[in-house]
Amino acid sequence: METAVIVGCGRCGTKNRIPEKRQHEGPRCGRCGEVIDLAAQVVPIELGDQDLQSFLAGSRLPVMVDFYSPDCGPCRGLAPVIEAMTRRFFGKVVVAKLNTRLHPNSALRYGIRGVPTLLFFRHGQVLDQVVGAPPESLLAEKLGRLAAGVQSGR
Ligand SMILES: [Zn+2]
Repeated sequence: METAVIVGCGRCGTKNRIPEKRQHEGPRCGRCGEVIDLAAQVVPIELGDQDLQSFLAGSRLPVMVDFYSPDCGPCRGLAPVIEAMTRRFFGKVVVAKLNTRLHPNSALRYGIRGVPTLLFFRHGQVLDQVVGAPPESLLAEKLGRLAAGVQSGR
């Protein structure tokens, strides 16, 4: 079953189940039609070998993918920062993550040698990357550039 977030409607209070992958598509309340405000509750989208390519190709927003492994300490340390950035850049950049242990083909495809590695995509093309856990300020700067459509060249 597809993973989802459960979000209460701001108007009628109905709890809506929003599939993770559709968080950025302006979902509306199933009962009253109000646009669901997800900015405070958005979570990173978990992608895998089966859907990374189609997701990247279909996203109108730039996408950052956190290639991680569940047994990697720095990845776990970075996770709360990634989650904060997911909310901060909601509507500008889609933040996703990919478990390289479960999905080695995607890691191979992009030449991921260590985790965490962050790749920054626009229209399916890698524009930038960070190997290792970056400081929050650097990550925010890179996401800001990605959102603005500016290549960082670093
Ligand atoms: Zn509603």
